[in-house]
Amino acid sequence: MPDARKHLSVLASEWEGCTKCSLGEHREKTGGSFVFGEGAPRSIMLIGEGPGRVEEAEGRPFCGPSGQLLRGVLNKLGVTQYYLSNCVSCRSCSIVTNPDGTPMLKKFGGRTPQPLYRDEPPTPPQVAACRPRLLEEIYIVDPVVIVALGAQAATALAQESVAILSERGKERTIEVPGAAFKASLTDKRGVWMRKSGGQTAYPVVENTVRYLMIPTLHPAFIMRKLADRGQNSPFRQFVNDLRSAARVYERYMLEAFGVEPTGASNVSDDEVMQDNSEQENIDYE
Ligand code: SF4
Repeated sequence: MPDARKHLSVLASEWEGCTKCSLGEHREKTGGSFVFGEGAPRSIMLIGEGPGRVEEAEGRPFCGPSGQLLRGVLNKLGVTQYYLSNCVSCRSCSIVTNPDGTPMLKKFGGRTPQPLYRDEPPTPPQVAACRPRLLEEIYIVDPVVIVALGAQAATALAQESVAILSERGKERTIEVPGAAFKASLTDKRGVWMRKSGGQTAYPVVENTVRYLMIPTLHPAFIMRKLADRGQNSPFRQFVNDLRSAARVYERYMLEAFGVEPTGASNVSDDEVMQDNSEQENIDYE
């Protein structure tokens, strides 16, 4: 059973040698990294599909170009407290072949040419195999709000198909199994609150914790749409969804701890997008 008192490093060590699905076997064969989440607990938790080439090499989530875009937007919105993770902890990819069927080789960073792999979405069984790790990670992180990055993360968390283009930005609740203490989330003046400072919160179902989730587009998709600067562009939608999450967190901090918002989340879309315009030229995969 998930245990909120468990340290995240213990959870990571329990899963780092995992071969519960074929992604772990691939990771072992190629010497890739297991990629666990990182960041601040009890903040905004952003969950993507899975690690890509750079993340696998570095062993950290969202450290490649699309991750830089995500971190850049969060920074511009004044969000400093966040946690990043993925539906699966090992890279999902397939080898790229030449027309004659031989593996295509590519040099990365001046090293010996390596077989080129193309990232691909993890399969439902792979996501299901990693789901206990993700749910326990969520429960230990205990986020104020979850942002699901892309259709696959949103679907995995909601446990039903989420059409991301029409459902993005719409708040949902998800349930995560818990133990050790009763759920302590409640809806108080429109803000998701936790039991703190002796204040009474209203428990929901014992052994189940409900979390607020906002689905949005995946930053890798945004990278492909950066040239679109229209009023309803994917980038603008992405910024607005992250802004919504930032405001949930600001309300929580105000209600729970009396921390006044800095107003940084009010920065204009254009200013956020302008600061990320240099990413248009990055060859991200
Ligand atoms: S993706 Fe998750 S379930 Fe699959 S091998 Fe890696 S850690 Fe294990």
